[in-house]
Amino acid sequence: MDKCVKVSKRNSSIVLDKEKCDNCGICSSICSFNVGVYGFSNESFPCINCGSCTIMCPKKCLSERDETDILRDYLHSGKTIVFQVAPAARVSIGEEFGLEPGINMAGKLVSALRLIGGDYIFDTTFGADLTVMEEASELVDRINKKIKGPMFTSCCPAWVKFCEMFYPEYLGNLSTCKSPIAMEEAIIRNYFSKVNNIDNDDIISISIVPCTAKKMERVRFGPDLAITVRELARYLKEEYIDIRKLKDSKFDNLMSTGSGGGLIFGTSGGVTESVMREVYHILNKKRPKGKVLNFKSVRGLSNIKEASIKIKGYTFRIAVINGTGDARKVLEKIKKKEVYYDFIEVMACEGGCISGGGQPRVYDNTNNLKKKRMNALYNSDKKMKTRCASDNPDIKRVYKDLLGSPLSEKAKELLHTTYGGDEFYGR
Ligand code: SF4
Ligand code: SF4
Ligand code: SF4
Repeated sequence: MDKCVKVSKRNSSIVLDKEKCDNCGICSSICSFNVGVYGFSNESFPCINCGSCTIMCPKKCLSERDETDILRDYLHSGKTIVFQVAPAARVSIGEEFGLEPGINMAGKLVSALRLIGGDYIFDTTFGADLTVMEEASELVDRINKKIKGPMFTSCCPAWVKFCEMFYPEYLGNLSTCKSPIAMEEAIIRNYFSKVNNIDNDDIISISIVPCTAKKMERVRFGPDLAITVRELARYLKEEYIDIRKLKDSKFDNLMSTGSGGGLIFGTSGGVTESVMREVYHILNKKRPKGKVLNFKSVRGLSNIKEASIKIKGYTFRIAVINGTGDARKVLEKIKKKEVYYDFIEVMACEGGCISGGGQPRVYDNTNNLKKKRMNALYNSDKKMKTRCASDNPDIKRVYKDLLGSPLSEKAKELLHTTYGGDEFYGR
């Protein structure tokens, strides 16, 4: 009996080398129990591109689709190369070069990207702040209008695809916000290019990601290429670049700053904590402190975290879910009206993007590695002067110059989306 997951040759994120497979069944077990897909599918197996199987396959015969050749071609194309770097990529790439997990390598990563030919290097933490601005306003709007049912986060493309495939009846509950990377891409194409007078056709945009599903998402929203941490490390080694030896460099202006709230997007619970900081700001017109600023009950690696928080007289009921397998359990309970939440964060990977399918492959049965990467993000957040999205000066400028206000017509046009089609997916 074939115990291996079935990966189509057209899958935009994952490839399978069947020759090396010894039919151990680890991948189908992960995909069934953690991801909630394989054992729940009929013949047309809908991979959600999360890459969890690529981390766990002992033979490494499941891998990210290697696009380093495309990266090389783009870097030699003579066009303007614009990189953006996701929060969770900076706390893991050092491991590929023999460093301890959980060292924040942002400065060295920026230097490495300049060295291989990046003209502009932006921080996706800016895009995360933008997502927080829009998503917090969307949540407050739903509560004000007394719209029933939970609002689900939408920044994880594997979760969005899971919802589209298995629970289409809940698509109206998904936040309409694009992901941070897709929002940042929209700002690159509609603001950065204009400010710098660069024709969009002369720009190649590339995201550095912890995530294989971003290769699938980019077909939908851009950028031109999504390169995982594993691929980037491979490329740098081929170019004889040892990231450990580089000096720190800063992200480029316009999208160079992110708040602590944007940074913790890379870990489970981080989206919720950041959104609640901004919900507090919207409702109270002042910055949060204490329990709202440090919303500790949504932190950690438990599969399903439940919390509630009272802001301006309204008690927000919240669930934070690690893994689409657990999302399936919660959705079934919601269907039966056994539970009720106002806001639900779902990340397909256990621990969030810090353990994404494109991260360094490390068997982490004690969760020590996840904790170290997670703590690196929380420690950076704690030290930051700007911890709320709306305090980010780059965010203020883009609203002033381009978007107006959250949920404005312009913001909806550029930063929001609809769901339901499957024409975007290379399966
Ligand atoms: S985990 Fe790897 S070796 Fe085991 S069945 Fe899956 S692909 Fe084959
Ligand atoms: S990428 Fe995710 S959904 Fe696809 S086969 Fe692997 S574990 Fe399953
Ligand atoms: S949790 Fe993060 S890394 Fe994992 S699939 Fe979702 S977006 Fe990608």
